[in-house]
Amino acid sequence: MGSPLKKMPEFYETVCPSCGGAATRETDTFDTFMESSWYYARYACARDDNSMLDSEVNYWAPVDQYVGGIEHAILHLLYARFYHKLLRDEGLVNSDEPFIRLLTQGMVLKDGSKMSKSKGNTVDPQSLIDRYGADTVRLFSMFAAPPEQSLEWSNSGVEGGEPLPQTPVETGEQADAGPCGQTGRGGPGRSAEGGAPQDPRNHSQGKR
Ligand SMILES: [Zn+2]
Repeated sequence: MGSPLKKMPEFYETVCPSCGGAATRETDTFDTFMESSWYYARYACARDDNSMLDSEVNYWAPVDQYVGGIEHAILHLLYARFYHKLLRDEGLVNSDEPFIRLLTQGMVLKDGSKMSKSKGNTVDPQSLIDRYGADTVRLFSMFAAPPEQSLEWSNSGVEGGEPLPQTPVETGEQADAGPCGQTGRGGPGRSAEGGAPQDPRNHSQGKR
């Protein structure tokens, strides 16, 4: 879309302060970070058509929990903090920080590189949803790795979660071998083997 200033000759046509000759003003003045620095506050009072923020912002802000990728850890999050302090100094918010807690989620990798729209290596979950159901795909996504860690996407990993939604959680002595050939958490087979308790996530192979 570009800057609207590019369509305003009355803005960009000017004279050079040094030599008095014709000059052009910079029109790329409004970095995208400008808006991402305060959207969380505007969302909280989006119905207000007359001002930037109203007092409703202080009901919602600061944000309790921010979840984002490591690429936000500098720039966006840093600018948002500066911006929030400006809003505070201007009396528009009454808190000191925009976000109380941050969880930096791991990235989803595909064949070793970050899965991203710009790289064009994303996996459309629709075919997996059609085959296994949304709950199974969701379960895999949530349990494939701790949220802070990166995970290598594996289509076959989804199959590991497939029987789970239909299987009651096995906790007692009578736990039979589950669909993956292993007993549930804390089952007798585990202690007999003397191994460390296994994470049910290990049922899905080939990640990380
Ligand atoms: Zn000049």
